Amino acid sequence: MNYDIVCGLEIHTELMTDTKIFCSCSTRFGGAVNTQCCEICTGMPGAMPSLNKKVVEFAVRTGLALNCDINLLTKFDRKNYFYPDLPKAYQISQLYLPICQNGYIEINDSIHGGKKRVRIHELHMEEDAGKLLHDGEKTLINYNRCGVPLLEIVSEPDINSPEEAAEFAEKLRDILRFCGVSDCKMQEGSLRADVNVSVKPHGAEALGTRTEMKNINSFKAIKNAVLHEAKRQAALIESGGTVVQQTRRWDDRENTSYEMRVKENAEHYRYFPEPDIPPLVISQEYIDLIKSTMPELPDEKKSRYVNELGVTQYDAEVLCSDLALVRLFEKTAALTNSPKDSANWILGEVMRLLSATATLPEDMSFRAESLAEVINLLNEKRITRETAKAVFEKAFLNGVIPSEYIKQNHLELQNDAGEIARVAAEVVENNPKAVGEYLAGKEKAIGFLIGQAMKRLGGKASPNDVAEYIRKKLSEIDS
Ligand code: ADP
Ligand code: MG
Ligand code: ZN
Repeated sequence: MNYDIVCGLEIHTELMTDTKIFCSCSTRFGGAVNTQCCEICTGMPGAMPSLNKKVVEFAVRTGLALNCDINLLTKFDRKNYFYPDLPKAYQISQLYLPICQNGYIEINDSIHGGKKRVRIHELHMEEDAGKLLHDGEKTLINYNRCGVPLLEIVSEPDINSPEEAAEFAEKLRDILRFCGVSDCKMQEGSLRADVNVSVKPHGAEALGTRTEMKNINSFKAIKNAVLHEAKRQAALIESGGTVVQQTRRWDDRENTSYEMRVKENAEHYRYFPEPDIPPLVISQEYIDLIKSTMPELPDEKKSRYVNELGVTQYDAEVLCSDLALVRLFEKTAALTNSPKDSANWILGEVMRLLSATATLPEDMSFRAESLAEVINLLNEKRITRETAKAVFEKAFLNGVIPSEYIKQNHLELQNDAGEIARVAAEVVENNPKAVGEYLAGKEKAIGFLIGQAMKRLGGKASPNDVAEYIRKKLSEIDS
């Protein structure tokens, strides 16, 4: 393409508060239709909203994680539009004085190599709308989602490829999860992206006219939408046409976007200051308090794993892709005192079993203590690697406690050197044929002797130890 891609994302994320932003209705996903609403979130005349403090805390926390300035004075505004999923006929949002501004997320620069910053224009608080259920001729409305708190995070148009768009969204999801403000379940709509795309002649300064594709809910779809919309615009310009600013519907199955409507501008929404909620003053002490309880963020965690714990870059990326893996890793590493072994087991056996049983990391039911026990017993040479794997599988699948299971099934290795030496001597004595072959130069014959000794020891000795004693015995005979 002779065109540069320019893209900006507006990402909506539902917050994990127990209650809604302006009333005390539950935010739980999947409740019975229209059971989680009241006069406030369904917009009855005269009902008065009051702001959920937790939403402010989550917004500040996210703003700090995204390197934003936090505004000490912030205000809510009414965004008016008429649509059946919005019973008040306006959404309480923030336009003039959003809570956070001027942040950035660092991503890989897909054009020039190295890193780059995608600037965050702002982050603001608002309420979600209800959900329409189209049922043949009828449309039904579920108001449970009305008033669920949202953060909208708006990037500057600093994204220049489909890959960068997906990486920005993924990094943002990881940050939101690490901050504990949203579960970001895209299949449940708790993270959705509006994708704005324009193209301009290669190297040109001025930005082209953009189109917007709303409510895209997977990273793959974000990537595809940027790619195909940029191609569509480039082809349109090449054929002498002009791009019109509009909202388009992205169809991910067809890999095409369709015109929906000419884009509204702010004035179409007749924004005005929300009269029912006073301006909010945030103190510096409050911000400092939140600052002092910030969690370790994904990039910091990854570099600590690599630089201080000796985990490989790749392993650190995989571990940090999921909070459940992070928790498992950190606990196991602490209990075994071996981050490297812990990472190896998680990247190996845990991932293998997760995929074999189609389980998500967050649904793992075994305890970190179980994995740590297996690793410790193996490192102390009290079980073989085979036993370790088999017992861990039982812990993963059925929740058995490895140390107990090993004891009950007598799987602990025979570490009594005297006993191993005695059996080795016996086996060498009783198998003159194999011994003769070995002494005549047939290396392989020793395998038979080791096998015999292992059998007599009930498999409860390390094959390496047994081999060592048999070799010792044989060399005594040889000399
Ligand atoms: P609105 O709120 O009306 O959608 P904004 O000006 O706030 O408009 O921009 C919304 C998004 O569009 C932002 O993420 C911004 O980065 C992006 N954007 C703005 N101009 C362009 C452009 N020319 N090409 C691509 N994206 C753009
Ligand atoms: Mg927009
Ligand atoms: Zn309510």
